[in-house]
Amino acid sequence: MQTNNMFNFEYSYLSLPNQFYSLTKTNIFPKPKVVLINKKLCDSLNISISNKEDLTRLILVKNNRNSSFSQAYAGHQFGHFTRLGDGRAIILGEHLTNDKQRFDVQLKGSGKTPYSRGGDGKATLKSMLREYLISEAMHYLNIPSSRSLTLLKTGEQIKRENIEKGGILTRIMKSHIRVGTFEYASYYCSKDNLKSLTYYTINRLFPEINEYKNPPLALLNRVMKDQIDLVVNWMRVGFIHGVMNTDNTSISGETFDYGPCAFINVYNPEKSYSSIDYNNRYSFGNQPKIIKWNISRFAEALLPLIHQNRKKSIELAQSVVDDFDDLWKTKFYGMMLNKIGIQYNDLQLHPLIDDLLDYMQKFNKDYNNTFLSLSEDDFLKNTIPNDNTFISWQRKWKKNLNNLSNFSEANCLMRKNNPVVIPRNHLVEKAIEEANTGDFSLFYKLLNILSHPYKYSSNAVNFMEPSSSDFEKNFQTYCGT
Ligand code: AMP
Ligand code: MG
Repeated sequence: MQTNNMFNFEYSYLSLPNQFYSLTKTNIFPKPKVVLINKKLCDSLNISISNKEDLTRLILVKNNRNSSFSQAYAGHQFGHFTRLGDGRAIILGEHLTNDKQRFDVQLKGSGKTPYSRGGDGKATLKSMLREYLISEAMHYLNIPSSRSLTLLKTGEQIKRENIEKGGILTRIMKSHIRVGTFEYASYYCSKDNLKSLTYYTINRLFPEINEYKNPPLALLNRVMKDQIDLVVNWMRVGFIHGVMNTDNTSISGETFDYGPCAFINVYNPEKSYSSIDYNNRYSFGNQPKIIKWNISRFAEALLPLIHQNRKKSIELAQSVVDDFDDLWKTKFYGMMLNKIGIQYNDLQLHPLIDDLLDYMQKFNKDYNNTFLSLSEDDFLKNTIPNDNTFISWQRKWKKNLNNLSNFSEANCLMRKNNPVVIPRNHLVEKAIEEANTGDFSLFYKLLNILSHPYKYSSNAVNFMEPSSSDFEKNFQTYCGT
């Protein structure tokens, strides 16, 4: 174990065969400067950052470490298989908290690595500001996510479509192992090495799976369930990840790699903001289909370990993946019913959800605020009172609500599941633009309000307004490297 005065590092990943990583060092940057430190996260992980200069020195200047590394992986990007790897990321080490929880401490944007292919290994300050803000917002929305520990300005100007400032994010995650890591092992490594990765992952993330008769099959099942829970949560708050490639699908069930992500305003399942998502592959409503597709790639990668007879192995893996649709339906409708205050998940109640979503789409209603107005009991005021379909929907809803629970229980459930504030696209853009020029006032305000997303306050009201239709018409997100 290497201990310094900030992190308590171990390097268990380096026990894997060396095909899985490359030892790497950060670039030297001209004038690095810390612009954000997440003090609360430092405290909760027992990371003691005494001052900004020490931090900069530790992560950039004193880069004589022999154990920082970049991970090898592959992945299906927009459906096409590619060999990848951390092209602009370095894991400084695995920090152990006082209660022995293990977290990767990763720098993103710290320069070229052996996996950079044609890229410069850098990240723009703007894209890292975005990842910082949204990953923290997701955490406070109670959705598993990578966290953001610090943000540095590198002092460099980097070339993108325009000249941009460079940034480096320190990202914290339970582990950066992804579906693409398993695809890499299955395409390019021996069966023994695939096995090493599988049991390393089980021991690190799900040690209880060792007790199962068929641990690789149990791993598949566990990852599928965790991903269903995760994407159900995305649908709960209107989050579009935007680039659900298999290399961006974590095995730990955490949301990560916030590139072209956004939040829907008006409900539209076909909504996609990403400038490169030409076929709407990663649109809001397609996310469940895509996660099933990604889990199928994970299943394929595990096939050599599930059973020595390939046919039998396919049968076993298929039996897990075949449960996806039913599980999805149960979890998704269960969550959506909670959003309208109903704890009880029954098939008969599902049309209440489908009808409400149809209604929102037909009348261009804001997704988040429509649910919120239900818990506020001013739904009619916020909707179209003289629309007959809708009045009859409301009657049906109230009847079910009264049959199944009392209104205060229902209200409690709705408040837990319907955030008051979400990161509205126009505010996120404005905060990032201003912070990029050195004015962090809106960025801090937004970060602060998004740290209590379920709490009503007079202040919250200023952040609840949906992005205007004009803004939404022109708003595009970029992979933003
Ligand atoms: P992402 O879209 O961030 O998930 O990245 C996809 C792949 O491209 C990963 O292997 C990244 O490491 C790599 N990549 C993205 N941007 C850069 C860059 N500026 N330089 C080198 N590699 C990059
Ligand atoms: Mg990625």
